[in-house]
Amino acid sequence: MLKRKDLLGLIDASASEITEILDLAEEFKNRIKKGEKKMSYLEGKTATILFYENSTRTRTSFEEAAKYLGATTINIVAGNSSVAKGETLVDTGKTLDAQRNDFIVMRHPIGGAPYLLAKTVQASVLNAGDGMNEHPTQALLDMLTMREVFGSLKGLKVAILGDIKHSRVAKSNLFGLKTMGAEVTMYAPETLIPKGIDQLGAKLCKTRQEALDGADVVMGLRIQLERQQAGAFPSLGEYAANYGVDKRILEYAKPNAIVLHPGPVNRGVELTSDVIDHERSHIEDQVLSGVAVRMAALTLLNEARKA
Ligand code: ASP
Repeated sequence: MLKRKDLLGLIDASASEITEILDLAEEFKNRIKKGEKKMSYLEGKTATILFYENSTRTRTSFEEAAKYLGATTINIVAGNSSVAKGETLVDTGKTLDAQRNDFIVMRHPIGGAPYLLAKTVQASVLNAGDGMNEHPTQALLDMLTMREVFGSLKGLKVAILGDIKHSRVAKSNLFGLKTMGAEVTMYAPETLIPKGIDQLGAKLCKTRQEALDGADVVMGLRIQLERQQAGAFPSLGEYAANYGVDKRILEYAKPNAIVLHPGPVNRGVELTSDVIDHERSHIEDQVLSGVAVRMAALTLLNEARKA
């Protein structure tokens, strides 16, 4: 059973914890597909969704997840709250605790911010993305999508291409996938590869072909223009031509390889439109996996709180 108050990252998640979340998420995904969207696992509980950064998929899916489980949800957009008046994160956390919140789902532009919040509040904190650090539920939903297609994560070869340096998704996937026995290859311009990522277990490749060779999963990552002070490559067009994935490049992967992307996609940059809309693309299915994984994480953290 999950024995933690918070879900902040996958860096310290064990294979059995990841499996437990994925197993329950699979069950929830099947129930949602059958139209079951009213459950009572979190009846009487409150989940506050506190976002200091933009989001479509993650914010809405956390809200859906909490609502499907019967919780009351509160949405705080930092620009509209007392944060805009200068309130510190710790004081915001104290206020949310005083209101007897059970869960705080937080996205923050600074890596480590949810760790600080988790230390100060009694509520369970779920990291919905902290700066360039981690985005654990995104990696879990990616792993759920892969596991559904291939049956197991062990031995899978996952090629990650795109803006790895600024990506919290790349880091959480690397931690989770390595723990589950998958192999992770990466390819990007040198300026978009964070130092030391190979020491964390990623195999850095010199060409797209090398990265995709024998890959079961091809994951594109968005070029995060908002996190780049100076351009890391000459132009988006040159990036697409030399580092992006089109139908021809996809051929380097296994014939049954699937395509993933956490979204939002820069169409024609990381992936061409024909790859995004390809029959092997599971990008839309990732979204439903996201609701299911977030339901599982909330349910298991709630059980851990009771224990
Ligand atoms: N939605 C993901 C994130 O928030 C990926 C991205 O923004 O590119 O990290």
